[in-house]
Amino acid sequence: MANQELFKKVLSHAKEYGFVFQSSEIYDGLSAVYDYGQQGVALKKNLRDYWWKAMVQLNENIVGLDAAILMHPTTWKASGHVDAFNDPLIDNKDSKKRYRADVLVEDYVGKLETKIEKEVKKAAKRFGDAFDKEQFLATNPRVLGYKEKGDAILKRLGKSLENEDLADVKSLIEELEIVCPVSGSKNWTEVKQFNLMFGTKLGASAESATELYLRPETAQGIFVNFLNVQKTGRMKLPFGIAQTGKAFRNEIVARQFIFRMREFEQMEMQFFIPPGTQKEWYAHWKETRLKWHHSLGLGEDNYRFHDHEKLAHYADAACDIEFKFPFGFKELEGIHSRTDFDLSSHEEFSGKKLQYFDPERQENYVPYVLETSIGLDRLFLAVFSHALQEESLEDGSSRTVLRLPAVVAPTKVAVLPLVKKDGLPAIAKTLTEELKWDMTVAYDEKDAVGRRYRRQDALGTPFCITVDHQTVEDQTVTIRYRDTMAQERLTMTEAKAKISKAVSFQNWLGQL
Ligand code: ATP
Repeated sequence: MANQELFKKVLSHAKEYGFVFQSSEIYDGLSAVYDYGQQGVALKKNLRDYWWKAMVQLNENIVGLDAAILMHPTTWKASGHVDAFNDPLIDNKDSKKRYRADVLVEDYVGKLETKIEKEVKKAAKRFGDAFDKEQFLATNPRVLGYKEKGDAILKRLGKSLENEDLADVKSLIEELEIVCPVSGSKNWTEVKQFNLMFGTKLGASAESATELYLRPETAQGIFVNFLNVQKTGRMKLPFGIAQTGKAFRNEIVARQFIFRMREFEQMEMQFFIPPGTQKEWYAHWKETRLKWHHSLGLGEDNYRFHDHEKLAHYADAACDIEFKFPFGFKELEGIHSRTDFDLSSHEEFSGKKLQYFDPERQENYVPYVLETSIGLDRLFLAVFSHALQEESLEDGSSRTVLRLPAVVAPTKVAVLPLVKKDGLPAIAKTLTEELKWDMTVAYDEKDAVGRRYRRQDALGTPFCITVDHQTVEDQTVTIRYRDTMAQERLTMTEAKAKISKAVSFQNWLGQL
């Protein structure tokens, strides 16, 4: 499917099969806010578990936390969010549409990357088996020209943002002759900063109410609890605190479905380390997190690192793991070396010591921090959009199949009696009852079996078990595989064992 077509299909499939709905749809929706339906909530939970098990359960030195969304307002002064959590915005005077100035420039560079991909495809066709992609990318003059241009643009953008030189960001947009996608005009306003935090109030009366913020990231809940966890858990450095939870950002532009939402869920881990060791831990967590992504089997070519040109006020090194979404490579996870910025700043603002006594070094210090931060909704979109495929079959028909990794599929197995008589439903129901203690299972007896298979394909169910007349005689069933559509005759016990293994966390995370 072409990319735009695929993205449209992702949206309609997500709605039609109960994965994602627009929030408050009966009131025409709330922009960039979404609800997860009966299938989506299960996929989301499984993805969260996949992360949690890899980060917390399998690591002796990483523990969990569930901090509140509302925090003392000084937290956000200390973290720098009140002063510096801004995005540069620009308006088009003709369409009256608002954009993120940095995203307009990045999209321009994205188009250069698409041109490179096209050159690669053309050359691959021309040279056939003899094509060496690495060499082509390193030597083709046209490719090198695009790459050089893109790098120079991003470098300049990074520099201007770092120096708060918003006039230069505007000049860059003008020099690149970027037009508004809606009006097609270059009639832009100046670039301005816009704070992304949502404010709210705590307290009964207007006069005594305290101004609060809905947290824009989960990380600060971890920092302010650093000593609580370290002391009560008797944790020794290096150790990590992991947390999943909602975060809120008043995003300027939010047009890419669940990629950029105003209410979303983060899965973050802060790893506390001795100062001076941040380089090695940065390399360690980059590699570990990339491997984790690869373990989901969405194709290693669909991931890449992107080093930050502009470092946030708290970081001494930062990169993103980008995924190839239907609209191009975009950030899925951030890995940041945050130094001792946050803990030191909370020390200063709270007047409380947030230090660690290192028995080996025999000294007190404020630990350094390495952070891994991934958006659960973006992970959902990555997995879902990659999994959704339209497949032409040998008999000339086609099927829609959601090739979700079995470990995160909402339903692991569907049990189907071949017909609704001859005692088959009773056997299938008994089997369903047995299976439900170990995995999510669906029972379906409506329609012809072929149509039921198709429905399970569209929901991403990796296995179907069909109970037929032979089952009555010898306790064997047919197991049908979603991805290959192959069928196999097994005893019920064998089928159960096979599916349990295929969907187990160990089978997937064990390869890490
Ligand atoms: P972007 O540059 O795309 O705005 P960011 O660099 O501001 O993202 P971080 O602050 O590093 O993002 O947040 C960590 C992760 O949280 C991101 O990698 C992303 O997966 C997720 N995330 C951030 N903002 C949103 C959002 N508005 N909607 C959904 N997920 C988000």
